[in-house]
Amino acid sequence: MKKYLIAANWKMNKSLPEALDFCNKIKDVDIPENVEVLICPPFPLIYPVSQALQGTKIATGAQNAYFEKSGAFTGETSIEALKSVGAEYIIIGHSERRNIFKEPDELLNKKLLAVLNSGLKAIFCIGELIDERKAGKTISVITKQLDAGLKDIPASLMPALTIAYEPVWAIGTGLTATPAQAEEVHSFIRNWIKEKYGQSVADALVIQYGGSVKPENVKELMSQPDIDGALVGGAALVPDKFEKLIHFSKLS
Ligand code: PEP
Repeated sequence: MKKYLIAANWKMNKSLPEALDFCNKIKDVDIPENVEVLICPPFPLIYPVSQALQGTKIATGAQNAYFEKSGAFTGETSIEALKSVGAEYIIIGHSERRNIFKEPDELLNKKLLAVLNSGLKAIFCIGELIDERKAGKTISVITKQLDAGLKDIPASLMPALTIAYEPVWAIGTGLTATPAQAEEVHSFIRNWIKEKYGQSVADALVIQYGGSVKPENVKELMSQPDIDGALVGGAALVPDKFEKLIHFSKLS
């Protein structure tokens, strides 16, 4: 049976009481066997959220990390520190990190290698800007991000990697890639992975779609052959909506 990863990226949202309220509302939700659920809160909320979700099937993750183990890096957070407070996944290369905080491909590659070598799982985000799509450059942008981001990552670390295709023009805008637009890029990504790592790694890879996923569009997106889950911002802040995303297969 095909497996899905439905992940919440809370970005810079929620206080501690709001996060705990969300966890209380979501923690007893029945989770289908083929669905894995993940919540990525802001750093200070990772520990309380992971504690609140203990004993459930919902994992906790982080939205970023630094690649160095420790030292004089004011304001940064190490992967080991995140692991020690309950993070199982770390998102690397979200478009907001790439575009607002100007994180370059080389830095993202170091971060990705550090996460995968730490034993934690990584969600590596890639996606094109609207001007790049309009200029017909989507595939060349995705290829460059894959080449640079996955540089020196051996096949042995690939089971811990999820890729999230997030067209930047669809993030937080209410615009969603059509299922066909998304599938075209997902299928390209799977093929790229097949060329580099072989068929079995490509078949096992989870490729999430992200960009204004909501209860109204999730089922059709998830029914595409190469879409294996969703990375969700806005709709994942609302317990009722997030529950519907987890139960996408039951939506009409
Ligand atoms: C995201 O945060 O990665 C995202 C896709 O946000 P939204 O669902 O709000 O578009």
